[in-house]
Amino acid sequence: MRNILIKIRDLVHEYREYDENDNLVKTMRAVDGVTLDIEEGSFVAVLGHNGSGKSTFAKHLNALLMPTEGTVIFSGRDVQEIENLWELRKEAGMIFQNPDNQIISNVVEEDVAFGPENLGIPSEEIIARVAFALQRVGMEAYRLSSPNKLSGGQKQRIGIAGLLAMKPRCILMDEPTAMLDPEGRREVLRTVHELNRQEKITVVMITHYLEEVVDVDRVVVMDHGKIVMDGTPKEIFSRIDKLKEHHMRVPQVVELADELRKEGIALPEGILTVDELVEALCRLR
Ligand code: ADP
Ligand code: MG
Repeated sequence: MRNILIKIRDLVHEYREYDENDNLVKTMRAVDGVTLDIEEGSFVAVLGHNGSGKSTFAKHLNALLMPTEGTVIFSGRDVQEIENLWELRKEAGMIFQNPDNQIISNVVEEDVAFGPENLGIPSEEIIARVAFALQRVGMEAYRLSSPNKLSGGQKQRIGIAGLLAMKPRCILMDEPTAMLDPEGRREVLRTVHELNRQEKITVVMITHYLEEVVDVDRVVVMDHGKIVMDGTPKEIFSRIDKLKEHHMRVPQVVELADELRKEGIALPEGILTVDELVEALCRLR
């Protein structure tokens, strides 16, 4: 059994709108009673259609938002009782959708050094951390480049290096590939999977691409602010009707396998890739 890094209990988040006289005019319950344990070292994907509450949920994991009700316990500490929130945010950094919004400097290495510099870390240590972080994301050759000249995928990897330089325990990503081309998406996914496996960093990744969750440990599906499915990718992908009920677009190969099964072809459950489908079909006699 792995350690629980983040323990979420009955989490509710309401956005409230007030008029000019401070009267409450509208309440939007974006997260509606989420309970979840995120194990240290695991890779958890949060899926859901637009407006299902994913971003609101994720922002509670490093205290960018505070609960309306319920609790978030990060590594044994209730986030509502942590006085210095930067301590939490260095342990759980967040990558957002638009890579341009998180670039701070004109030189890649300065950008990556920004976090540790703010933590007051000695400069030799910063140099070592920046070198390590750039190497880990495969961007060491761009150390002295201008981030603005990089592709979207490279910019996201620089953003990830910036978090790495703070030695995080957890990386939170809110649709990190949504604005990238297919190559950029692959680069970013490969990078975070390596960090998860090799550096044992916990990853929570929000996405609405089902294709991106094939290799993760656990998939949580949200709808209307609630967790409506929770399981391994194979378990989730074997329930196509339920995914569709929650407005998820299902990968073609998964859907094809499902259609074939309905036609009476004895395919195993949980086929996620073309290779797996071909192999399963070849095994039939
Ligand atoms: P997702 O990331 O899954 O698209 P969000 O967490 O962004 O979902 O939004 C969940 C719900 O909360 C949506 O109905 C959205 O319109 C609403 N919402 C999000 N941010 C705000 C905000 N700052 N103020 C009011 N309502 C919001
Ligand atoms: Mg969102």
